[in-house]
Amino acid sequence: MPLPDIAHPRPDARPGHVYLVGAGPGDPELLTLRGARLIGAADAVIYDNLVSPDIVALAPGAAERHYVGKKAADHTLPQSEINRLLVRLARAGKRVVRLKGGDPFIFGRGGEEMEALVEAGITVEVVPGVTAAAGIAAYAGIPLTHRDYARSVVFTTGFLKDGALDLDWTMLARPGQTLVIYMGVSRLAEICAQLVAHGLPASTPAGVVERGTTHAQRVVVADLASLAERVRAAHVRPPALTFVGDVVGLYPRLEWFAPDGHPRAGHAPHAGCTAVHPERPVGAMGGDAQRGVEHGPSPEAPRGAGGDEGRTTPDDRRHDGQREGQRQGRDAEDDQR
Ligand code: SAH
Repeated sequence: MPLPDIAHPRPDARPGHVYLVGAGPGDPELLTLRGARLIGAADAVIYDNLVSPDIVALAPGAAERHYVGKKAADHTLPQSEINRLLVRLARAGKRVVRLKGGDPFIFGRGGEEMEALVEAGITVEVVPGVTAAAGIAAYAGIPLTHRDYARSVVFTTGFLKDGALDLDWTMLARPGQTLVIYMGVSRLAEICAQLVAHGLPASTPAGVVERGTTHAQRVVVADLASLAERVRAAHVRPPALTFVGDVVGLYPRLEWFAPDGHPRAGHAPHAGCTAVHPERPVGAMGGDAQRGVEHGPSPEAPRGAGGDEGRTTPDDRRHDGQREGQRQGRDAEDDQR
């Protein structure tokens, strides 16, 4: 991929080093230039479920590729084995790029990997990525902060190491804040109930975005009282991100991203909310956020951001569909714990 010239680019990938690179939330175009440059010079790339195949494809043909995510019925490679693999490749003098979905230091065990590498005496560079909260909020038209609705944002996880949901509910249920929950979709009913029990009105707008920023993005918007049921009825699967707070109420007006590649017909409320995944039950359409809205791609969905029409061929789409299908089978919420 030809990258734009930058006045003072930092040094290229060096042998024996590990580059912990954030791959962004899904849309491959959200990768940083630094990340793209390093992948293009890698001798080995290590990646898992959340990394777009288009990003892995930026590695040179001769580069080793190691998939360490969940396999069909199998489990993710244990973290200790991933660490050993990274150390072995670096010690062999390779330029190693470890790709992580989103940002390496936000709910992706990047810190643990880096600790192990540093302990083994390996030099590590971290390249930040667009974390799911920021990328998906942007593509879903949910401003994380807003002077009228939210002056703080909290990122939390619904999947704790020991399986307990032992969170600081009083802090999470504060008004005037946006809450973003990673890996929480399988515990959604419990999460919503706890937030209401700790003081958030049951009418607080809340939404879940499945496979955000990709051509398969689906959005289910409702309120705390009904979100879990809507999400269950829509068969939402990981990876999915949950947003809670008044800013979610702006979604019907601000949504702009067209996963199906068709530009939204203006920004009037629900102007674009006509396409819903045909294989899935359809939530209520056209209502306000409180009544529940589900938006998703049409069956022919080309990939890429809205307004991208013409960039993909039917063959690309078929290929993408297959890859996405394979990925979906592998995706599981505890993968990135
Ligand atoms: N390091 C990553 C997060 C890894 S945890 C980052 O910064 O984004 C994995 C969780 O992130 C998933 O279970 C899901 O909650 C969220 N996530 C990542 N990509 C997503 C996507 N494209 N759509 C919806 N949720 C996503």
